[in-house]
Amino acid sequence: MSTAPVRIVLLYQSLLGIYGDHGNAMVLTRRLQWRGIDAELISVDPGDPVPTDGAVYLLGGGEDTAQITAVKELKDDGGLFSALDDGAVLFAVCAGYQICGHSFTIGARDEVIKGLGVLDVETRRGPERAVGESLSRWTLPDGTTSLITGFENHGGWTSLGPDATPLAAVEKGWGNGDSRTEGAVQGQVIGAYPHGPILARNPQLADHLLEQALGRSLDPLDLPEIEALRTRRVAAVREGRP
Ligand code: GLN
Repeated sequence: MSTAPVRIVLLYQSLLGIYGDHGNAMVLTRRLQWRGIDAELISVDPGDPVPTDGAVYLLGGGEDTAQITAVKELKDDGGLFSALDDGAVLFAVCAGYQICGHSFTIGARDEVIKGLGVLDVETRRGPERAVGESLSRWTLPDGTTSLITGFENHGGWTSLGPDATPLAAVEKGWGNGDSRTEGAVQGQVIGAYPHGPILARNPQLADHLLEQALGRSLDPLDLPEIEALRTRRVAAVREGRP
């Protein structure tokens, strides 16, 4: 009996694709394939129907105005909401994270835009722009911790409501803006600020998303070059080097 490939759905690169976050979709697809699991990357542009049978959906970073269009298109389409109702995972970075919340502001006039409402967060322009390498400590479901490395570049600061919990605790950088918490988690929806792409720099987070989506644990992958890169990045950030 043949089973359908696991679908990794990359949403709206033409709108939210300026930070290289499409690499997150490539990482998820490759980490499944390296384990012998049939997987395919589906890239969906605005106007294309969003497939409802994906395992993981991804949103990336982008400009303020693109965020407005992305929200409208995703609401009009409705496919992402159906997929989430069916248990899919949504992983959203920066602008993508902000649009998952109830609202966010754009432009110098701080126009308030309604978001998708799948995360109990709100984003408002902060007193300064958060730019630079960041480091935060993530607690995995088994209670162990792992550092998340990446770089952030956002003017919006995000506050969490009671239904969302922080993804990680900030060690260096701004995170959600308060330099204390990074990202948000609510059920199968996870938002985070770091680019990098974040899942290339943080393979444990990539595997966590896949395990959430598949509902089972995955065999570890031994990729020493990724661990070596992580070690270098963490040391550089702690020493204040670029
Ligand atoms: N436009 C948003 C902000 O500046 C998101 C930026 C991004 O995706 N890097 O807050």
